Amino acid sequence: MSIHENRTVNCPKCQQKQTVMVWSSINATLNPEGRNKLFEGQINHFKCVKCEYESLIPIPLLYHDPERKIAAHYFPPESMQKAEFLDQFDLDGKFVVTGEVDFDVPDHLLDVHVVFNMNELVSYVIFREMLIEFHQQNPSSPDLSLN
Ligand SMILES: [Zn+2]
Repeated sequence: MSIHENRTVNCPKCQQKQTVMVWSSINATLNPEGRNKLFEGQINHFKCVKCEYESLIPIPLLYHDPERKIAAHYFPPESMQKAEFLDQFDLDGKFVVTGEVDFDVPDHLLDVHVVFNMNELVSYVIFREMLIEFHQQNPSSPDLSLN
């Protein structure tokens, strides 16, 4: 499912308080509206009602689409400064899914594409969706005849 909640945020420029919806996860299969918002740059985007200062709210965002088997995770680049963050990955930059979770991790979440830029998150999702379309239109020939 998609996870979002309202949070009170102080404008970094003028300190005006306002409530913004903060997303930590988007399930595009169940919530196509969340996908649209991401594509429109509206996810975790802060705009001050008073001084109109705009910025990205720097929190991690998991994008997943179980139907299309896409999973990508945005992290603010500052995350790399923390050992707890780095500890979640192996040397190849892959999430280490360990036995810590006591539920079956869905296949599409076993290989999560990590990005540090929201625009790249959107580009990657478009790339994967275009691949699906491409391969539907150009089915590869069966490779059973190799011998
Ligand atoms: Zn402001």
